[in-house]
Amino acid sequence: MSAPAAGVLNTATSEPREAWCPACKAYTAAEVDVHALFPTGLMLLGTLSACEICDDPTDQGGSDV
Ligand SMILES: [Zn+2]
Repeated sequence: MSAPAAGVLNTATSEPREAWCPACKAYTAAEVDVHALFPTGLMLLGTLSACEICDDPTDQGGSDV
């Protein structure tokens, strides 16, 4: 694996899009593609996803299973 941080000129994310959350069993998540611009061109680093329900940091209901 080469280090993706070396030589990165810039990073960019795509528009967030709806994504399926298997925990909520609904399209409550959002995901974005993360690209990095290298001197050699654009490269897809990966996709980030987060669910607005599961990953809500303000939800401190204490309903741990
Ligand atoms: Zn969820």
